[in-house]
Amino acid sequence: MPMIIGKVSNNEKKVKFNEEIRCTNCRKQVPGGLQAGEAYYQTKSFKIELENFKKSYLCGICRDKKRRE
Ligand SMILES: [Zn+2]
Repeated sequence: MPMIIGKVSNNEKKVKFNEEIRCTNCRKQVPGGLQAGEAYYQTKSFKIELENFKKSYLCGICRDKKRRE
């Protein structure tokens, strides 16, 4: 399942795109594409949300570690 940036309504068309995403802790690159709603994609708030997502992204391993600490 690709990760979705922002909110997508049920009947809205989705845009698939690729973005280089790295874990902010171990710097491992995370494979897989992202999706956004067609109306939201490339808007200013979309770009801000994508930046925030990338700034706070943790891979599964680091997320598990953080949860256990
Ligand atoms: Zn990591």
